Order: sequence, then C-alpha cells, then structure tokens
Amino acid sequence: GAEGTMHFVDATLLAGRLPKRAKFGHKGTYGHALLLAGSRGKLGAALLAAQACLRSGVGLLTVRTPAVGYDILQTAAPEAMALTDPAPDFISELPDLGPYSAIGIGPGLDKAEATKLVLEKLLRETKVPLVIDADALNLLSANPDLLRLLPPNSVLTPHPKEFERLAGPAHDDYHRLELLRAFCRKHQCYTVLKGAYTCLGTPAGELYFNSTGNPGMATGGSGDVLTGTLTALLAQRLPTLDATLLGIYAHGRAGDLAAQHTGEAGLLAGDLTRYLGPALQELT
Ligand code: AMP
Ligand code: MG
Repeated sequence: GAEGTMHFVDATLLAGRLPKRAKFGHKGTYGHALLLAGSRGKLGAALLAAQACLRSGVGLLTVRTPAVGYDILQTAAPEAMALTDPAPDFISELPDLGPYSAIGIGPGLDKAEATKLVLEKLLRETKVPLVIDADALNLLSANPDLLRLLPPNSVLTPHPKEFERLAGPAHDDYHRLELLRAFCRKHQCYTVLKGAYTCLGTPAGELYFNSTGNPGMATGGSGDVLTGTLTALLAQRLPTLDATLLGIYAHGRAGDLAAQHTGEAGLLAGDLTRYLGPALQELT
C-alpha cells in the first residue's frame, strides 16, 4: 500500500509523464496561468516566477502585482499580461478568477492584512489547483484555519523554515519527513519540502525524493522559479502528481545545466529560467 512508500525521482520514473506539444496545439491548449506575486522591493520575485512560468510551456500568463510592478513587468516580461492591483505597494484585491486553469501565489508578497484577505478569498473561490509559496505560506502559518480551505490538488512549496512555521519544529531530518507525511495526509495536499534532495509529500502520505539540483541553487530567487514552473505545468492540466514531479526535477536539472556554464557559485536564479526549456525537452 501507499503507507510508508518512498520513491526516487529520476528520468526513468518520469518517462511518459510530459506530453509532447501537439502539432495543432494553440495557446488555449496549454492553459492560462495566474500568478499573484510581488510587493515594493520584491518585484524581482514576481518577475522570476513569471519568466519561469513562460519557459515551462504555459499557453497564456497573467500576473497580478501591486501597481508599482506595472512598468517592470511589461518591460521585462512582455509575453505576460499585467493585471495590476489598485494598491501601489502590495496586493489588496483578488481579480476575477474566470479564465485561469491554475494559480500561483506567494513569491515576493508581503504579509499585509489586505493580502491575507486576498489569500482567504482565493481559497474560498477557486477550484483550480493552487501553488502556494513564500509569504503566502507564512500567512497560512499565522492563520492555520485557512488550511481547511485548500482546494484539492493544491501544492505547497515551503523551504525548511517555512515548513517549520506550518508544521512545527523537527528534532532531526527523519522527524521532519514524518511531519511532512502527516501534514500532507491531514490537509490532503501536496507539499514540496525544498532543499538538497527536495522531498514531495502527497495526500496519500507517499514521499518522493528528487535527484537533480546543486548547491549553486542556494541563492535568492531559486524558489520563485520553481513556483512559476509548477504553476505552468498545472495550468497545462497535467495530473498534480505528474506536474509536481516534473517541475521539481526539471527545476533541478535546469540548475545543473546552468552550472555547467556559470559554475555553482556564479549561478543566479535568472539563469535557471534559461535552462528550463532544455530540461523539460529532455523529458519528452
Ligand atoms: P527558496 O529557499 O524558496 O529560494 O528555494 C530554494 C530552491 O533552491 C529550492 O527549489 C531548493 O530545492 C533549491 N536548493 C537550495 N539549496 C539547494 C541545494 N543545496 N541543492 C539542491 N537544490 C537546492
Ligand atoms: Mg522562497
């Protein structure tokens, strides 16, 4: 049974999970993603998530940032549509959710009360898969009742500190995995515990250990890239397990390809976005 099962995420496990682009595919075929990201001084996080989303095969991308992000986004990510919030510095209103097939929230947000209310409204109103990262996770930790509202097939992407805020402190690495398994079962969500050998926990309590990536990725913005990639794969309507496994593997593989050129110390999160395409291509 699924109880206690552990898996190693390598190219063999992923074979056949990423569909080839269809000859007659059009942008509607590949979904419409929405990212809610950024606040004053952290528009880079929104931009990295947007670029990663665009490089991971999504058909259309709309980005909700505070008003301060409008020129930045339209200039640095012209392929994305900017649906800026009326508030200048943080996100204060949830846009209409009609068109979207997956939604990512968190990179570069802040913990303003208005943003908490946006997250709560999003959890209540949407049925599409969510990717929840960064300060959106911290808002959940500060308001744990909201975890009951998670739509099915949601993916949380904490690093160990964010996971500790969500699930409590771990005595050691093994205990942290036990907490991960219990957390995913209790809240019926997928949780990506990030780090070397990133571990995905599933609602059934299974654990999947990723094989790609390198310590060059321990640099600001790497996680924002992962959020964009996962949102793109979910927007393409892949099953959540497949989207999440493909996303964590391709993100690490992009880091390994990038490091061949930049070295590990020289690796920037923006370099990851450049190699996501080749990393995904290897899996088709
Ligand atoms: P964040 O802390 O949100 O920026 O996320 C960091 C990202 O970089 C995650 O996807 C981690 O899995 C990855 N990462 C960080 N450190 C390492 C490492 N030592 N080896 C492999 N991947 C790493
Ligand atoms: Mg992060």
